Amino acid sequence: MATKRDYYEVLGVSKSASDAEIKSAYRKKAKQLHPDLNKDDPHAEEKFKEAQEAYAVLSDENKRRMYDQFGHEGMSGRGANPYGYGGSYTNFDASDFDFGDIFDSIFGGSGGGFGGFSGFGGKTSSKRATRGSDVLMRMNLDFEEAIYGCEKKFNLDVIEDCDECHGHGGFDREDCATCHGTGSVTTQQQTILGAFMSRSTCPKCNGLGKTYKRKCSECSGKGKVKVKKKITINIPEGINTGDRQRISGKGNPGTNGGESGDLYIEFIVSEHDYFIRENDDIYLEVPLTITESILGCKKEIPTIYGNVKINISPGTNSGDKQRIKGKGVDNKYRRHKGDMYLIFKVYTPKSLSREQKVLIEKLSQTPLETEEIKKFNRFTEKNG
Ligand SMILES: [Zn+2]
Ligand SMILES: [Zn+2]
Repeated sequence: MATKRDYYEVLGVSKSASDAEIKSAYRKKAKQLHPDLNKDDPHAEEKFKEAQEAYAVLSDENKRRMYDQFGHEGMSGRGANPYGYGGSYTNFDASDFDFGDIFDSIFGGSGGGFGGFSGFGGKTSSKRATRGSDVLMRMNLDFEEAIYGCEKKFNLDVIEDCDECHGHGGFDREDCATCHGTGSVTTQQQTILGAFMSRSTCPKCNGLGKTYKRKCSECSGKGKVKVKKKITINIPEGINTGDRQRISGKGNPGTNGGESGDLYIEFIVSEHDYFIRENDDIYLEVPLTITESILGCKKEIPTIYGNVKINISPGTNSGDKQRIKGKGVDNKYRRHKGDMYLIFKVYTPKSLSREQKVLIEKLSQTPLETEEIKKFNRFTEKNG
């Protein structure tokens, strides 16, 4: 086994480097050394793993201290698997390290249609078949689109299995020459406690035991291609802000044959100038003249299902509510139908014609006190 390089040297940082410097150095190295970007270098896998290993140790306070004190021997002296997780040291957490960065650069794009999307996190392993992470996308809907339902079309960059090689990345499968088809390799590690045999996943075939004679040129051996997909979704009646619709398999791609995550679309519904939506109920302020409020009236009222004629009873005050059953949102998503509520507001004119003034003054000579007004007057007298 070749002598191990110093971890600090691998990442190109000084022994006193801060956590942030180490992380930043690793990001740079990982991008630069990623095997998918260095297909011509036969040692690409090794170099990438070396950087991963260095980062796994130097980014962990305890492991870094052990390493600083005892060097590489200190690390392996803790057992054949000093890093505390299964397999070898190539696991990393996507939430800590942005795998998307690398993926984008592989495809030479800036993420395109993924603008404004944010992943839900999720783990990415470089060896095991892992499901891709889910993606959340926000979509604005008009008030009407949400209430009546609609069809929406949009373009989405989807990463799919390459048609040419059916996602394998190559043709003419054969047993991996490095591991002889077993998928793992055995290495001997010399430590202060003696020699340890350690088994790790074959770096050549990523543990699959198989390699391909010919690399697929369509996907440059990645097995995946980025395609623009026109997505059409049917949004059911009654969707509201915060509701989500799942589009299966259109999230981030899985790794090593893992299935893709899902795409979630979260809706943001815009407000209406007049109708106020409260869950599935619709509220509408209805302005009344003073005579409409005193005498009552028959009035044409807009609803989300067109206009209806409504009887407004005599003596309707500002703030009075009237329910119109079943004229709320017909929510197919929640299987619930709301009602509509009219909230009346009496608007008193600020100026009157001479004729109107005469009529109102005449009206004022008749007793108009309601029970509430009489009660208030009694209180005023007592208080005095
Ligand atoms: Zn192999
Ligand atoms: Zn291909």
